[in-house]
Amino acid sequence: MFSEGKRSASQVSAGIINPVVLKKFTTFWKAQEQIDFLKNSLQEIEEYTGRNYLIDAPIHRIFHDENEQKLWLKKSENDELISFLDKKFDHLKGVKNDFLSGKVNQSARLDVNGFFAGLFYFLENKGFLVKEKFVYSELDTKNAVYKNFHFQNMLFCEGMGVVNNPFFSDIPVNPNKGHHIKVKLSHSIPENITIKKKHFLFPLSEELYFYGGTYDREQLDAQIDHSAVEQLRRGLSEIYPAELEIVDANIGFRPTVKDRRPILGRHSEYCNLYVFNGLGARGILNGCYFAKSLYDFIEEDVPLPAEVSLDRFK
Ligand SMILES: Cc1cc2nc3c(=O)[nH]c(=O)nc-3n(C[C@H](O)[C@H](O)[C@H](O)COP(=O)(O)OP(=O)(O)OC[C@H]3O[C@@H](n4cnc5c(N)ncnc54)[C@H](O)[C@@H]3O)c2cc1C
Repeated sequence: MFSEGKRSASQVSAGIINPVVLKKFTTFWKAQEQIDFLKNSLQEIEEYTGRNYLIDAPIHRIFHDENEQKLWLKKSENDELISFLDKKFDHLKGVKNDFLSGKVNQSARLDVNGFFAGLFYFLENKGFLVKEKFVYSELDTKNAVYKNFHFQNMLFCEGMGVVNNPFFSDIPVNPNKGHHIKVKLSHSIPENITIKKKHFLFPLSEELYFYGGTYDREQLDAQIDHSAVEQLRRGLSEIYPAELEIVDANIGFRPTVKDRRPILGRHSEYCNLYVFNGLGARGILNGCYFAKSLYDFIEEDVPLPAEVSLDRFK
């Protein structure tokens, strides 16, 4: 595996594992399968790294008003949502939640920092990781050679870096810039849950909290935008009016696709080159499940689901 070691979208992500669209209280394609597969995979990864990176801290969605409470209860009767939307509402201490909050059952978080540190350490120790930029011009597709490596198949999972890949730069992914902030709060809030109103709020360490992320399709430079940080500060003060200090801000670019589904497939001309991209706003959740679909396609000749196949854009 080649990785240039830059901090990726995955590494700045909140790591939320969430089967529900929290604006409209709906779910999405294969949400249950994705959650189950991810939880099993994290158990398997524990066998390699010695750690399980799943944090059992379910999302509590703060309601804006009574109408949202009613909508949640109505949706919780729905067959698709019954196992995700808890019918019992909770009052959260330490944050403003006049209309209470609803718990998303089965939601959780990935310990993003721990996961990448642990997995990269494991891969490096095994000699599976080359920490350098992949140089496309050095790839000899005909002889299946890259520098001094011989390969059978090559898979590109570059997030928005795919725009520089001459073999797959035409896949229809669009960047969506996301900011998060790290804040110090003047009084503590519940530790074992993930709080959501406008954005997600949860503890990173004893005194540091994560709040984010924003969505922006317009300002796409690699700088921190003051307006986005301000948006986060305002969103946070809605639920946490007490004193707080912003100590850090970070950005990442989500590789999004119009139909909100990943893009998996084989190059139309070079049959040993593959792409895995378009993980959008849910890469932590959907990456694992669809990686298996692509594995089955490459190694076992199992056709890719049409919904995620690169061929849908032909
Ligand atoms: C602020 C924010 C919050 C988010 N929160 C969540 C969340 O809570 N839950 C969730 O499920 N998703 C979340 N996401 C979305 C998630 O981060 C993305 O879906 C996911 O990161 C996409 O993963 P990826 O591997 O495709 O891309 P990336 O994570 O960007 O990884 C691509 C990697 O490829 C490397 N690369 C590219 N080109 C080259 C090259 N030529 N040579 C070597 N290496 C190269 C890059 O350096 C990078 O490390 C969030 C995103 C943002 C920005």
